Amino acid sequence: MPKASKPSATKKAAKSETGKSGAKSNVAAAQIELPSIIDESTVFDQYIGKPTGALMISCKKIARINSAGIRAWKGCFDHLDKNGISLTFVDCPPVVLQQVALFDNFLSGGTISSVLVPYLCQICGKSFEKHYTVSELKKNKCDFQPSKCDKCGAMAEFDDDFDIYTRLIE
Ligand SMILES: [Zn+2]
Repeated sequence: MPKASKPSATKKAAKSETGKSGAKSNVAAAQIELPSIIDESTVFDQYIGKPTGALMISCKKIARINSAGIRAWKGCFDHLDKNGISLTFVDCPPVVLQQVALFDNFLSGGTISSVLVPYLCQICGKSFEKHYTVSELKKNKCDFQPSKCDKCGAMAEFDDDFDIYTRLIE
């Protein structure tokens, strides 16, 4: 590890920054995005790379996970967890939350920080997703208010299984 400690100005700036943020870690988490299909052909290493401290995994593209995909997922994230990598899953769609509900420790000790919640407009049939952080869900107790459909202007309703969200805030 190179110890290129430089002028005092840099040092000072870094110091005040740490003081202000009070963050647990000053190392930014590596961010990756998983593909739309998680199955036997998914090579996790290709997406994960070689994280060192923390990893933020975007799940927003995921549309399908089959049983071989679940095994590959567990193999990958259990391994990272054992190596001390902290795992944060963001933008989790229902297909991911369903696995979390079904399988013990699907997240390998990781946490979910945000979800994508499906909405359906009963008037024009448009479906879309709304982003909620888990802190928002805790605050509003998963009370998913209707949301305006941008196609027809009617109020679209929450369109999913409540349980997969309420378990996140227990
Ligand atoms: Zn509509």
